[in-house]
Amino acid sequence: MTRVAGVEVDTRHWIGGERVASSQTFADVSPIDGQVIAHIARGGAAEASAAVAAAAHAFPGWAAIGREERAALLHAIADGVDKRLEELAAVETTDNGALLRSHRRGVMPRVAHNFRFFADWLLELGREDFETRGHRNHVSWDPAGPCALITPWNAPLMLATWKIAPALAAGNTVVLKPAEWSPLTASLLADIAHAAGLPPGVLNVVQGYGAEVGEPLVADPRVRRISFTGSVPTARRIAGLASANLTPLSLELGGKSPLLVFADADLDQAADLAVEQYDNAGQVCLAATRLLVESAVAEEFTARFLERARALVQGDPRDEETDVGPSIHPRHVERVDGFVRRALAGGARALIGGGRPTTGQGFFYPPTLLTDVEPGTEILTEEVFGPVLTLQTFDDEAQAVAMANDTTYGLAAVVVTGDPERAERVAGRLVAGTVWVNCFFVRDLRAPFGGSRRSGVGREGGDWSFDFYCDVKNTVSAPWVR
Ligand code: NAD
Repeated sequence: MTRVAGVEVDTRHWIGGERVASSQTFADVSPIDGQVIAHIARGGAAEASAAVAAAAHAFPGWAAIGREERAALLHAIADGVDKRLEELAAVETTDNGALLRSHRRGVMPRVAHNFRFFADWLLELGREDFETRGHRNHVSWDPAGPCALITPWNAPLMLATWKIAPALAAGNTVVLKPAEWSPLTASLLADIAHAAGLPPGVLNVVQGYGAEVGEPLVADPRVRRISFTGSVPTARRIAGLASANLTPLSLELGGKSPLLVFADADLDQAADLAVEQYDNAGQVCLAATRLLVESAVAEEFTARFLERARALVQGDPRDEETDVGPSIHPRHVERVDGFVRRALAGGARALIGGGRPTTGQGFFYPPTLLTDVEPGTEILTEEVFGPVLTLQTFDDEAQAVAMANDTTYGLAAVVVTGDPERAERVAGRLVAGTVWVNCFFVRDLRAPFGGSRRSGVGREGGDWSFDFYCDVKNTVSAPWVR
C-alpha cells in the first residue's frame, strides 16, 4: 500500500481476486516534480501466467451469466467510479501529469461512461434474423475467452476501460497490463470492480515492463483476444508473438494527423482548434500535429494562433489555470527535444518554443511551432508525441489532400472550412479513421474508432467492439416440418 494524492493505492498485482506481490518492484515517478510516488510490483512470466490462469478459470462462469446480470455489474462498476471520481482524478494527475481539471470533468466521467455504454449496448445487441431459401440465419455474439489488454500511459484509465468494458460486457475475462509509467489507477479500478461484486478472476491486473510481463501475456495460448494501444514498434513485436497462436488482435497505434485550414475557414475557430492540439502536452494519439494552411490566409492564421499559444499557461497540472502540464518522463522529454533539435539543425524555425527550459523540477517541454520544415524529414513523418506542431502551406485543395495523406499513419484528420461541399469532398479523400470537420475530439462510443495504415488494425466502439471481443456465430436452421 502507498498513499498518493491522499489516496491509498495497493501497489501489488490483482490476480484471481487477490493481491499478489512480486519479489521485485519498480519506481513510479510523478512527472510533476520528479518524485518517486510508489514502488510497484514488477511482474514477469509467472505473474502473467497466473493471471491468465485466473482469467481462464473464471471464464466459463462469467460467460454463462445472463446479459442483464452482466450489465448490472458493469453499471455497479460505473457507480463505483463515479463515487471515487475525485480520488481517481487526483491519483491519475499525480501519476501521469495530465490536467486535473480534464480528469475531473472529462476523462473520469468518460471512464464511468465506458462501462455504462457497453452495458447498455449489450442489452440492445442483436441483428435481425434473415432467410436463405427458407432457412433462418441467426447471428449471435459468443464470448471469446480470456483477453490480454495492454495500454499506454497517456490516458491510462480511460484507455484501459475502453477495452475492459466491452470485453467484460461480451462475457470475456481480462488481464490488464497498464503502462509502467502510470499504473496506479488500474489498481484502484481493481478495488472498485471488487467492491461492485465482480467475481474473482474476471478482471486481473498485472504490472511491470512490456518485455517482462507483457510478452508472456500476449504469447499465452489461453489468451483469445489481444487488444493493444501503444506505439508501432511495440505493436509489431506483439503481432509477431500473437502469430504463433493466431490470436486475434486489435491495434490502436500512433498518428501524424493533419489539420487543414482552408482560406474560407473561420480563422478564429481554426486557431482555437490548432491550439487544442497542445492538450495533454501533445501526448494524444489523435493530435493533429501537422498544421496545413492555405497560403492566402497563412499569415493571418499564424498571428491568431501565436496569440493564443503565447497565452497558454504551462505549469502544475493540479492548478485550475494551467493549460499545459508536464511531459511524462525525462526520457520522453529527451526524445521530443531530439526531434526539435534535429529539425532546427535542418533549417526549421521555431515560431514559439523550440527548446527545453533550464529550470524547474518537473519534465516540462514548451508548446512549440516549427515552420520552414524540410519536406520528407522526420519531423513531418514520425510521431513526436509532445507539444510540437509543424506549419506548412498549400495552394489548392488537391495539394492540401496530397500533403495530408503524405504519411504512413492514418488515425485522424481535422478539416476547417466554411464550405460544406468542400468539407464533404476533402473528408472523402482523406485516409483517416476519424475526420473532424470544424471540431475536434467529439466522440460518440457508437462510432467506429481506430486507424488506417500504420495507425492500427481494426475498429472498436459500438458493434465493432462486440465483433472483435466475441466469436461471432451464424446458426442456419432448415425450415421446421411438423
Ligand atoms: P508503448 O508501445 O511503448 O507501450 C504501450 C504498452 O505496451 C505499455 O503498457 C508497455 O509496457 C507495453 N509494452 C511495451 N513493450 C512491450 C512488449 N514487447 N510486449 C508487450 N507489451 C509491451 O507506447 P507508449 O509510449 O506507452 O504510448 C504512446 C503510444 O501510444 C503513442 O504511439 C500513441 O500514439 C499511442 N496511442 C494510441 C492511441 C490510439 O487509440 N490509437 C491512444 C493512445 C496512445
